[in-house]
Amino acid sequence: MSFGELLRIAPGTKPDLAAIDPASTPGFDGDKDAAHDRLKELRHELTSFQERLWAEGRQSLLIVLQALDGGGKDGLIRKVITAFNPQGTRVIGFGVPTEEELRHDYLWRVHAATPGKGRIGVFNRSHYEDVLVVRVNELVPESVWEKRYDQINDFEATLAANDTRIVKVFLHISRDEQRERFQKRIDDPAKHWKWSSGDLETREHWGDYQAAYADALARCSRDHAPWFVVPADHKWYRDLAVAEILVEAAREMDPQWPEAGDDLSSIVIPQ
Ligand code: AMP
Ligand code: MG
Repeated sequence: MSFGELLRIAPGTKPDLAAIDPASTPGFDGDKDAAHDRLKELRHELTSFQERLWAEGRQSLLIVLQALDGGGKDGLIRKVITAFNPQGTRVIGFGVPTEEELRHDYLWRVHAATPGKGRIGVFNRSHYEDVLVVRVNELVPESVWEKRYDQINDFEATLAANDTRIVKVFLHISRDEQRERFQKRIDDPAKHWKWSSGDLETREHWGDYQAAYADALARCSRDHAPWFVVPADHKWYRDLAVAEILVEAAREMDPQWPEAGDDLSSIVIPQ
């Protein structure tokens, strides 16, 4: 079975996150060094895919990254997403909405950030926060967030129907691993900037977040926009698994070099 098949949430099924071990390494029985070697190969393939995607200019790739604080989205971007040429790739972080953003519907800022043809967009957090932090912190009533799952499915269906391939990844870490990563942020002055007092607050609502994630994964994993749950306590496995999932998507997208506009056979470059 491929990584994608192993880690994908089948549409219409609800994952039992408590039963997915964040320290497990499904689909891989090698060690960390073997994972690094394989990642190198995968990065080469992603690099060459991105060049063809850009040249072809007909399809887009949207990668949605979600995780609890400390889940490793930033590390993943550094280790895997950097395989793509920055010219043609955009990483967009979604934080607390600004006043102007709050004056619009919640998908407004998200839609504006989607990748154009030939481009790759990476969402570091996304519209899913509008059924995660918004639900857990009761920022809007249930009658409002409850309708959002269907709205999100419709939105993503529209993107998919317009040649955007969507890959959504939830980095699944354990409570212990989160504690260790938070502790490092506190112990290491070079990591202090990463610390936010809100991090502890989300940790207090651990159970609520697991429940909100399980619902989002269950209700919004679709054939055209699947969710993947990636066990992420081991950073080397996290990077490897996401790179494998992306390579599978890239092979299916299979962008083609465009034909030359002119007949090049008779062109002679002057001395
Ligand atoms: P970070 O990704 O660590 O820089 O933090 C961004 C913060 O913005 C997180 O605490 C998110 O929960 C928060 N955030 C993102 N989207 C929303 C949203 N739609 N409503 C409220 N808070 C959000
Ligand atoms: Mg943070």
